[in-house]
Amino acid sequence: MKMKKTILLILLIISFNASAQFKNYFRNKTMRIDYIHSGNAEEEHYKLDEILKEPHWGGSKVNLIDYFDYGNYKFHVYDSASKNLIYSYGYSTLFREWQATDEAKEKSKSFMESITFPFPKKTVNIEFYSRNKNLDWEKQFELTVDPGKAHINKQKRLKYKIIKVHKSGNPNQKLDIVIIPEGYNKEEMDKFKTDNKRLSGYLLEADPYNKNRDKINFWAVIAPSEESGTDIPGENIWKNTITNTNFYTFGSERYLTSEDMKSIRDLASNAPYDQILILVNQKKYGGGGIYNFYSVCTSDNENTGFLFLHEFGHAFAGLADEYYTSDVAVEDFYPLDKEPWEPNITTLVDFEDKWKDMMGESTPIPTPVTEQYKNTIGIFEGGGYVAKGVYRPFQDCTMKSVTYDNFCPVCKRAIQRMIDYYNK
Ligand SMILES: [Zn+2]
Repeated sequence: MKMKKTILLILLIISFNASAQFKNYFRNKTMRIDYIHSGNAEEEHYKLDEILKEPHWGGSKVNLIDYFDYGNYKFHVYDSASKNLIYSYGYSTLFREWQATDEAKEKSKSFMESITFPFPKKTVNIEFYSRNKNLDWEKQFELTVDPGKAHINKQKRLKYKIIKVHKSGNPNQKLDIVIIPEGYNKEEMDKFKTDNKRLSGYLLEADPYNKNRDKINFWAVIAPSEESGTDIPGENIWKNTITNTNFYTFGSERYLTSEDMKSIRDLASNAPYDQILILVNQKKYGGGGIYNFYSVCTSDNENTGFLFLHEFGHAFAGLADEYYTSDVAVEDFYPLDKEPWEPNITTLVDFEDKWKDMMGESTPIPTPVTEQYKNTIGIFEGGGYVAKGVYRPFQDCTMKSVTYDNFCPVCKRAIQRMIDYYNK
């Protein structure tokens, strides 16, 4: 009994310290830093674009330091006076995927990117890191911001009404997903509202999200586009839409993304959010998902439920693709002599921290793809776009094939851990 009381007291002190830490350093608003990320296959450069103040902070006030270490990039925020690390966050980018294409071997290109963190009360130093080819962190860029003196843009661009699609509580203690309508014209706003209900249902009814319905908020921004649909360059179809998405990203027909990060962030800032979903008013099969960046999917495909879960798996939980047969526009995405950071694939270089604790002792490595091991957690060869040298934990999964509500146990655990992170 005494033991239990002590543990409870310790937990109370820890959470009190964490929220005291938040109050010490931050306001319940967001600082957003837009920067230009440019380069080619071999090099990268950062340049500041602008600093903005946004009205809501949707993230945790307790988990301020990102303990996952996922993503190809991260940033650290230090209190300038004490040099204390007060916030950190990992993410990936479209630029990184472009760097792995043939085009990046011949030319340079720039991408708009953004980071957000709670609005600091005092001067902060922000350090930007990226993983090198050995997947080790390297510092790339640094900024000092005095919130009292810096030129900070406080105007509200792309200001729109928001609606609650599914509300379970205080945004600081919930996973907040903001849905941005893409290619819905003025007359289609009622369709967007109906689509929101259906989309949020796909997530809230699938395992393991169905066990966490009371930990998730869905918001939607009521922002019409000039025209309906989106760009399909391969069919010479071009539409004037609010986030400028297009199919055929890096030449891959079904890869649907946007490079217009400024509009996406401006629209998202109408709501408190942790994750951005761009819902494209379209029947054609397509989508994209990048870790802590955004997810995109089409609204009216027969596989929209799968598309949303799969892309959101990338964007929210840092899950890798477990498939290896479809052709994708990137080459040698995972170095085979390094352990990838994604929780659901391994090169066996450093398997200890992956799903070893979930495996039976007698399961053979590699695990044969036979009926006997159909529902067994193992180490199956093939994943991360290659048939050899990258392994996945289960024979089938929503991260492997077009199957709705079929996450493998390893992906489910990774999703649950991330939900828990946002629920503090
Ligand atoms: Zn999986």
